[in-house]
Amino acid sequence: MTYTFTCSQGHEPKSFTVEADNDDEALAKIMEKAAPHLQQAHPDMANMPPEEAKKIITGAWTKS
Ligand SMILES: [Zn+2]
Repeated sequence: MTYTFTCSQGHEPKSFTVEADNDDEALAKIMEKAAPHLQQAHPDMANMPPEEAKKIITGAWTKS
């Protein structure tokens, strides 16, 4: 399955796309892929508890 998470908080939309077999795998991959972006553009999000980041990502991603 392909998971796409688009971050558009305060900037041009930026998409992170990963291939994963399930939600847990997809979440881990997206968090890894988005980490540099979060640290650069959203230091507050980069430092939020994993549970909070999980809610934001899983609430906004699309699966196809
Ligand atoms: Zn962003």
